[in-house]
Amino acid sequence: MKFLHLRERQAALIQENQSLRHLNTFGVDATASYFAEIRQESDLQSMTDALANQPTLILGGGSNLLLPKKIERLVLHNCIMGVEVIRQLHNEVVIEAGGGMNWHQLVLWSLEHGLGGLENLALIPGTVGAAPVQNIGAYGVELKDIFESLRAFDLQEGKFAEFDHRACQFAYRHSTFKDESNKGRFLITKVRLKLTSREHQLNTSYGAIQKVLAEKGVSSPTPSDIAGAVIEIRRSKLPDWRQLGNAGSFFKNPIIPEAQFEEMKVRLAPTQIPSYPAGEGLVKLAAGWLIDQSGWKGKRKGDVGCYEKQALVIVNHDNATGEEILAFSKLIVDNVEERFGIQLEREVNAIESLLTE
Ligand SMILES: Cc1cc2nc3c(=O)[nH]c(=O)nc-3n(C[C@H](O)[C@H](O)[C@H](O)COP(=O)(O)OP(=O)(O)OC[C@H]3O[C@@H](n4cnc5c(N)ncnc54)[C@H](O)[C@@H]3O)c2cc1C
Repeated sequence: MKFLHLRERQAALIQENQSLRHLNTFGVDATASYFAEIRQESDLQSMTDALANQPTLILGGGSNLLLPKKIERLVLHNCIMGVEVIRQLHNEVVIEAGGGMNWHQLVLWSLEHGLGGLENLALIPGTVGAAPVQNIGAYGVELKDIFESLRAFDLQEGKFAEFDHRACQFAYRHSTFKDESNKGRFLITKVRLKLTSREHQLNTSYGAIQKVLAEKGVSSPTPSDIAGAVIEIRRSKLPDWRQLGNAGSFFKNPIIPEAQFEEMKVRLAPTQIPSYPAGEGLVKLAAGWLIDQSGWKGKRKGDVGCYEKQALVIVNHDNATGEEILAFSKLIVDNVEERFGIQLEREVNAIESLLTE
């Protein structure tokens, strides 16, 4: 892959052999053959020739990606910043944020401006532009609950496209951007979110949030109180990726038909299986519990491990490669399937063809 016929501007944007070790939260050593920082939308337009003919990889904060040692692609690092209020009507405030902005910084910005809606999603790593890709969610709230629309650059067609709520087809840790036909095709440059300025619709349904608020004696919480509680809970449960490389939950919580769940209950009695309603005739299971029950919590193979406090998190103890982490995760999948007849699906994004070459 060579970028020989680039105009001057393109050549200035694209670097060769860039290390991504500090650009992924697993902290794996990965090198991109070609790398470009996208600082404004016009950077993409000026690169359309290069983009149309090259395999690319879109990189945000690298907090939900498993990278191979060598990435023979043009990596596009989204660095489009900025946030502004674009519409305000009564209680509703619509903001537009650059896709490269850090998600938690956006949450803090909203709280500083007295806005509600993002508080339960505090401290999720990564960028604003990646948030719609898997419809990030935590503590009873998902991005779809406050999403208005987004703007993305179609790398195939070389032009911008708008997506409203419906077009994004949000589901649990899913959107149209993860569909096979769209994967890696749209680079999200701007995201618009619908927040509240006064009558906030606060979600304190999670017992852990209620407990922290009660301990602090808060009976009428503000969005900042809830964000504070969420931050406290998250810090106590998840490893800090700066100290112990990880990408949060490695697997999705499986959703199975009720009939299958009933059969499991009979088979595993008297063991109690944690479960949550997931819509008509469906049950959501806790992937962490299934992994823990399969004996993986705290296990280590070389530098890859299953986090000792939360089995859903795979960690890089030091110098693990993406290839080793993927192989370890496959052992977990096989074991859980053997024991429970349930196939775990990966939440973390990985280009398997690059990792298994
Ligand atoms: C400690 C920890 C805790 C976490 N907790 C949660 C949680 O509670 N809830 C949750 O939902 N997630 C959680 N995550 C996962 C992760 O933070 C989110 O998925 C986040 O949105 C990823 O953002 P990113 O910028 O790092 O994306 P990256 O990892 O860089 O990319 C993720 C995927 O999105 C694509 N992508 C990235 N940017 C764009 C863009 N601008 N346009 C189009 N595609 C793009 C990439 O190609 C890749 O396929 C956690 C991760 C960690 C490390």
